[in-house]
Amino acid sequence: MTAPVFANSAFVDTPERLVLRGGRWRKRPLYVRYGLCLDAKTGPVLIDTGYTNHALRDPGRSLGLRLYGRALGARLQDSGQPEAFLARFNLRPRDITTVVVTHFHADHVSGLRLFAQARFVAAAAGWDALRANSRFANLRHGVFPELLPPDFSDRLDLIDAAPQVAAPLLDHKAHDLLGDGSLLALPLPGHAPGHVGLLFPALGTPLLYAVDAQWTCAALPAQRRPGLAARLVSHDRAAHARSCDLVTRFAEAGGDVMLCHDPAPSAFDLKDLPCG
Ligand SMILES: [Zn+2]
Repeated sequence: MTAPVFANSAFVDTPERLVLRGGRWRKRPLYVRYGLCLDAKTGPVLIDTGYTNHALRDPGRSLGLRLYGRALGARLQDSGQPEAFLARFNLRPRDITTVVVTHFHADHVSGLRLFAQARFVAAAAGWDALRANSRFANLRHGVFPELLPPDFSDRLDLIDAAPQVAAPLLDHKAHDLLGDGSLLALPLPGHAPGHVGLLFPALGTPLLYAVDAQWTCAALPAQRRPGLAARLVSHDRAAHARSCDLVTRFAEAGGDVMLCHDPAPSAFDLKDLPCG
């Protein structure tokens, strides 16, 4: 499988202090990344979808989704939308065979309806919570079932069913999503039900895409993790802290770590990703 490439679907301008303990009140543009990797056997695999029109501009959106979009103030990046991103690889949305859903927050599943031919891969805990929660409980957590295609459950494969293998650089197990050890899902609970990171063990330096374990890499060490406002959005604060510890250990053991929203460019970003 190829190394992943990440596009930026939107910028969300956020006071640094909210996402980094001791940070400034000045706003910083956070990325909303999603990724693509190409596998000879499985085909093109997408990692989440970022923000798309479906969540932020679609005239048919529910009132809850409209209010959520307005409160967030995300700046959609047309050049970072899935159609434009995939076209750089001579791909169209219908060519995507698999979309790994790291969790069900709107900024990760917004464009799922674009991928009519794809199978979806997600953790049972996230899917179960989405179905069990009331509409209000989902809205409070930034989860909008209306963003999912109507046949989502028919095309869903659970991460939990994939065989477990040893995670690189960690005394931990992860789920082998493609059956060849090239793409592993590592449970990183706490941020949202069923939240997983993705491991790429075959790269020269193993990579952990830790998604939303934190907003910025600078905030991964315990003493820099943001305070109350950020912790309030955690699904499970204790589990969230343990997940941050795990990601920190991976980095300390020599692994590469990247996050969905980190404002610093990553080596795996598209080369000409626009700056905020
Ligand atoms: Zn999230």
